[in-house]
Amino acid sequence: MEYNENQKMAIDTARAFVEKKIAPVAGLIDENEEFPLENIKEMGRMGLLGIAYPEKYGGAGLDYMTYSTIIEEIAEVCASSAMTIVAHSTLTADPIFSYGTEGQRATYLRPLLSGEKMGAFGLTEPNAGSDTAALESKAVERNDHFVLNGSKIFITNANVADIFIIAAKTAPEKGMMGISMFILEKGMPGFGTSGKKEKKLGMRGSDTGELFFQDVMVPKENLLGRKNFGFSMLHHTLVSARIGMAAIALGISEGAKKLCLKYVKQRKQFGKHLYHFQSIKNMLADMEMNTSAGRLLLHNAASLKDEGKDFTKEASEAKLFASEASMRITKDAVQIFGGYGYTREFPLERFFRDAKITEIGDGTSEMQRMIIADEIVKRTK
Ligand SMILES: Cc1cc2nc3c(=O)[nH]c(=O)nc-3n(C[C@H](O)[C@H](O)[C@H](O)COP(=O)(O)OP(=O)(O)OC[C@H]3O[C@@H](n4cnc5c(N)ncnc54)[C@H](O)[C@@H]3O)c2cc1C
Repeated sequence: MEYNENQKMAIDTARAFVEKKIAPVAGLIDENEEFPLENIKEMGRMGLLGIAYPEKYGGAGLDYMTYSTIIEEIAEVCASSAMTIVAHSTLTADPIFSYGTEGQRATYLRPLLSGEKMGAFGLTEPNAGSDTAALESKAVERNDHFVLNGSKIFITNANVADIFIIAAKTAPEKGMMGISMFILEKGMPGFGTSGKKEKKLGMRGSDTGELFFQDVMVPKENLLGRKNFGFSMLHHTLVSARIGMAAIALGISEGAKKLCLKYVKQRKQFGKHLYHFQSIKNMLADMEMNTSAGRLLLHNAASLKDEGKDFTKEASEAKLFASEASMRITKDAVQIFGGYGYTREFPLERFFRDAKITEIGDGTSEMQRMIIADEIVKRTK
């Protein structure tokens, strides 16, 4: 991929920050299950949270190609930080940018892109995961506001966010065509978290929590886009987020592969460096082929988005392929390191744990296969 000067500058800035500030704490935030707030805020001040947004709103005026490359760079050393940013910069900021009024953009998008405020996106509920139409949270229109009741689970940044994008039914009888999206702010009466911080297999530096709404009075000006048009907004947002998730998966794979390439040149058994053994070479070759293929799929999806074309199928392909590849690659990476790979002395066990969520978040692998199949059937005359 050939980047222009502005893209290169942003990527180099991110790479330097990753090396200086993120790499030294990546293991610690996982071990202590600690949210890296200061690093995220600093990235906001440096312009790294608004890469793909216009300068008019405080963004860097670049594109998804650059954004996905930066997410990959971050995930190479700290997938938790990358996941935090995707939830903030895509899941929360993208619907405000794409569907918000100028007033909503000024009030909510700017402070998100500068890192002054943190964002979270609330779709998933106890009885509505893959099946979005099963949402039970309801918002009833009354005078100049909506009264919101319900709950959300598994929400990235729930306990640290100030601005929330929330999906709720405004016409329950219409199923998926009765969903609307709202912008909520921390501190609104009746709105809060349960205080629970989900204990997870991986991504332990990323915050995951629950949200509750009890007769929350949401002003009508906080309705995002049109009432009952939430489903298409959710689709648009999740398709974009899949580019972010694919970049996280690719970054984890790339990070694992790089560590392996160093290790096979250091470690000797039977008087030879590991890279002399054919079974080790096979694993290295598969790692290289899968990261290269994942990157091509990711760049294809990102460039279609940047060109304003439909990228639904391509985002699912990139996310599905890169996430499943990251599971295979991190499993093999632990194997190449042998017993050392299983210990916390090396980050490979963390990469292996972190990789799993990329097959689940922003739509599971099963849902991605359904989307790809539906898209090709639809496109076949
Ligand atoms: C760490 C973490 C962070 C998250 N962050 C967010 C967030 O920020 N915001 C948010 O809204 N959500 C978030 N989620 C929720 C995530 O998007 C959901 O977990 C995911 O969409 C799957 O939903 P579910 O867990 O309810 O599984 P289910 O939908 O119950 O699925 C269970 C299994 O059944 C399969 N399945 C379901 N339906 C079908 C079908 N029709 N055909 C074939 N197989 C099917 C699934 O693929 C899966 O294997 C997060 C989850 C985690 C764990």
